[in-house]
Amino acid sequence: MEHIEDSNEYKGLNVNKGIEQPPIVNPYLKTVRKKQYTVEEYAEGILRGNITFLSQAVTLLESTQPHHQQLAQELIEKCIPYSGKSVRIGITGVPGAGKSTSIDTLGMHIIREGHKLAVLAIDPSSERSKGSILGDKTRMEALAVHPDVFIRPSPSAGSLGGVARKTRETVILCEAAGYDTIFVETVGVGQSETAVHSMVDFFLLIQLAGTGDELQGIKRGIMEMADGIVVNKADGNNIDKAKLAQQQYINALHLFPPAESGWKPEVLTYSGYYNIGIPEIWDMIRRYIDFTKENGYFEKKRARQSFYWLHETILEELKNHFYQDPDVRTILKEKERQVIDSEVTPFIAAKELLDTYFNQ
Ligand code: GDP
Repeated sequence: MEHIEDSNEYKGLNVNKGIEQPPIVNPYLKTVRKKQYTVEEYAEGILRGNITFLSQAVTLLESTQPHHQQLAQELIEKCIPYSGKSVRIGITGVPGAGKSTSIDTLGMHIIREGHKLAVLAIDPSSERSKGSILGDKTRMEALAVHPDVFIRPSPSAGSLGGVARKTRETVILCEAAGYDTIFVETVGVGQSETAVHSMVDFFLLIQLAGTGDELQGIKRGIMEMADGIVVNKADGNNIDKAKLAQQQYINALHLFPPAESGWKPEVLTYSGYYNIGIPEIWDMIRRYIDFTKENGYFEKKRARQSFYWLHETILEELKNHFYQDPDVRTILKEKERQVIDSEVTPFIAAKELLDTYFNQ
């Protein structure tokens, strides 16, 4: 008898056989984590639309480890034939403009039409903060729990060019996984719009009324890129201000030369929070896509974007290779100091560094 309490002396008392104390850490965790799929397994999982495979593949893509990079590149090659069939939409606006609220509402509208949506982000601040403020799931409550949605925050490592390239490659994987609508979100404060513009079909600018921004503050370059301007928070006692802003944007757009696409950018008012005017935004995007597909601009723009990314990738790779070169690294700091102290001109220093790089 294992337990004395089970003897007849202790009537009514019964002690079961115990079990061995399980380890605190799940012993399978290690093997699960270590599991590295082959390129074929990843590709097969992605083409099946499996979100776990897709997430892991994007992680691979974002990794700085050379063997992950190699695997990711092979995977992209495999996915490219299945990509390209989505509508890619860039969304920008200053912090607080209502990007996440609007993406949530507009995204749900699109989902209800039967689409599959991927929300990606390019966040230039994430390089410094090591965390991303965009694309965070908690900012999009409805989308975050929807099975037809894939949300991914901005890659955080590397230069803006590198981050943008990873996002562009993520677009390819998402398309292969069956996402037919892709949002690429960015903060409307700097260079990142150009990067987003170079990978989307339609560029949507979210603006606010009554911020004094309407005429002077509008960054001309960003407005010129926009295919649609939408004035958010047109609700409550803000409606008149929003309408006024709309008119000011329409007037401002007249000052720009006609877009090459032949499309005249539209200006709408809406409320992301109260879900007013959302179908009209989607309708505008659809009409733009139909219009540019009809006149051939859609394909032309995509071809041009591929051309851009070819050269962008070459420059990025060359730059990385140069700065990682051991001989360059040995003398770089000293050359920088000499330039700062005006001991040599930047051109001479650059030539010496490049000679060091090329002469090995
Ligand atoms: P983001 O920084 O551009 O992503 O902006 P958020 O979506 O986080 O929105 C910033 C703030 O504006 C939040 O407090 C929202 O609740 C609010 N907001 C967003 N959309 C609307 C809207 O349509 N109407 C009103 N009144 N408030 C909104």
